[in-house]
Amino acid sequence: MIQVHSIPILQDNYCFLIEDPKDRTCVIVDPGESAGVISAIKERNLKPVAIYNTHHHADHIDGNEALLKEYGALPVIGSAGDRERIPQLTQYLREGDKVEFGGETAEILEVPGHTLGHIAFVFPGHIFAGDLIFGYSCGAVFEGTMEQMYHSVSKLLKYPDDTLVYIGHEYTLNNVKWAQHVDPDNPDIQQRVALETAPPTVPLQLGLEKRTNHFLRCDDPKVQAFTGKTEPAEVFGALRTHKNNFK
Ligand code: ZN
Ligand code: FE
Repeated sequence: MIQVHSIPILQDNYCFLIEDPKDRTCVIVDPGESAGVISAIKERNLKPVAIYNTHHHADHIDGNEALLKEYGALPVIGSAGDRERIPQLTQYLREGDKVEFGGETAEILEVPGHTLGHIAFVFPGHIFAGDLIFGYSCGAVFEGTMEQMYHSVSKLLKYPDDTLVYIGHEYTLNNVKWAQHVDPDNPDIQQRVALETAPPTVPLQLGLEKRTNHFLRCDDPKVQAFTGKTEPAEVFGALRTHKNNFK
């Protein structure tokens, strides 16, 4: 059984420590800096055995180098698509590849859109999703197409509702107004807003995201009506563009 610790770093990022409580080893996920991560590891008396990077952005990898100095030559595991862009990588993963930790197996999903090489690590019950989705939202589409990002985000839909989604940023409360604007009388959003009033909002509960995150609701007639489109990838693109311009 793995156990996950959220470490707030930088402005609004999260790094995660996946602990195997049997031997107090841990994996460091998306270390965007090192000092805060090292003190969180010391505090919990853990022994790092690997680093996972979901994508190449600095706020997810900038701690790699200093952590390797501190802990020795750990494997640094990321996307084959980031081979040129994350210099510390030692393992290059593709869709369907597997990584093992704490007696559990994570399956790799390729989720291009925010960046082309973005991957997610899917342990049973725990998905490490980087900047794929946020609370009520999804990552900005910087490198891929809207269509690609639609398919990437939609890969989450097949996992059980009680899955926890560990994401890169504490943005949830910034996105409430937009979520309500798109679907003003959604009872699940109303209930969520009443309960979720302060950080941390991460990990996200996948079932709640399926009901309140419009980017996961491109099949829903209410969301389609808001965008004036019916083809789900177009609904997605219209939502993303609307949100980019929303004030
Ligand atoms: Zn990013
Ligand atoms: Fe990020």
